[in-house]
Amino acid sequence: MNSKFKKFNTFDNNELIAVSKVIKSGNLSSFLGKDGKFFLGGKKVREFEKKIEKYFDVKYAITVNSWTSGLIASFGAIGLEPGDEVILPTWTMSACAIAILNWNAIPIFADIDKKTFNIDPISIKKLISKKTKAILVVDIFGKACNYDEILKIAKKHKLKVICDSAQAPGAKYKDRFVGTLGDIGGFSLNYHKHIHTGEGGIIVTNSKYYAQRLRLIRNHAESSVNQYGYTKKKYLINLLGYNFRLGEIEAAIGIEQLKKLKRIIKKRRQTAHFLIKELSKINGLILPEINQKEDNIFYFLPILLDKNLISKKKSIITNFLKKNDIPIVSEYENIHLKPIFQNLISYGSKNFPWSLDKRKYHSKFYSKGTCPNAEYTNQETFFAIPLCLYDFSNKDLEKIIRNFNKVWIELKLN
Ligand SMILES: *Cc1c(COP(=O)(O)O)cnc(C)c1O
Repeated sequence: MNSKFKKFNTFDNNELIAVSKVIKSGNLSSFLGKDGKFFLGGKKVREFEKKIEKYFDVKYAITVNSWTSGLIASFGAIGLEPGDEVILPTWTMSACAIAILNWNAIPIFADIDKKTFNIDPISIKKLISKKTKAILVVDIFGKACNYDEILKIAKKHKLKVICDSAQAPGAKYKDRFVGTLGDIGGFSLNYHKHIHTGEGGIIVTNSKYYAQRLRLIRNHAESSVNQYGYTKKKYLINLLGYNFRLGEIEAAIGIEQLKKLKRIIKKRRQTAHFLIKELSKINGLILPEINQKEDNIFYFLPILLDKNLISKKKSIITNFLKKNDIPIVSEYENIHLKPIFQNLISYGSKNFPWSLDKRKYHSKFYSKGTCPNAEYTNQETFFAIPLCLYDFSNKDLEKIIRNFNKVWIELKLN
């Protein structure tokens, strides 16, 4: 975080009033982990969920205390078996992989598309095996995935689709909101996402079956399962339940934040479009396309160096940009290369859950070279402006462009 720029902050008096009302009511949470009226939470939680359902045009919204919890709950809801495989992109947050391991299932990492940085459908196809149960797609940096292609593959192979739209709440794919296009999806309400409540998460689904299971996992499943008729519905038992419940204060803040989402997206897109237009004039930079489709709401502004035009090493350039007060990150994650996957130990000391299968998981799935686009891009060409962290003024934006030009002259990149 570059302290020279104003921090992203969309709170005002509305959140303050909403929070003080909750505090005055004395009910900071009304959840009870058992059958009855408060199994589904307090007034604000339920109101927030209704508003989410309306906004995103989806049948069921289930709030949780983080999207990491949401991911864990989603994989529980689809009924992963130990040893099942889930395909996910290597460019995402580690929570995606951990949520899969939580059920003793096995994350299999797909490569990214070089242009959009989203999961590459061709890579998905190559990784499908008899054990594949689901695909986790991530609308990375706020850009919608290629859902037509992904849903086609899922349908053909009878795979579930979980959508991690943490970085893209309100982005659209052909007039429908991302997060709502698969079996289960969701958003993060963590403090650097487009809208936030400090910590928090939203799960969305159009399936009643999944909604019931998600609510049970959120709230101590076995102890509250009578809510849905324990004896009649076998599919609702044998679920591990947690406490993933959202508080009333966070829900009250969420209601106010949701009202601002459209405006936040509009401003974010304007900022991104300005930077794209101006940075496109600089030699050797490749930028995302500008369109009116709202398929990109720019959590980050990803930028690539065009190696045909620029031969200098990436690290020299990114170090220089940082020195000149340009707020960039010079890398993204390659989760498949993290120690947990190199050592193949998620917990304990016995290579669990990989030891469930005799396949040679490491050499095949987690070694260097398994996701060539992701690895090359990270190493050689990618950097990004994390728009999620800042509230840039026009003057800030002009300064950023000026400093880019200065660096290009100093490094003789023109
Ligand atoms: C932020 C984020 C998460 C985790 O959300 P939390 O609410 O912080 O737990 C998961 N996936 C992606 C892609 C994210 O950006």
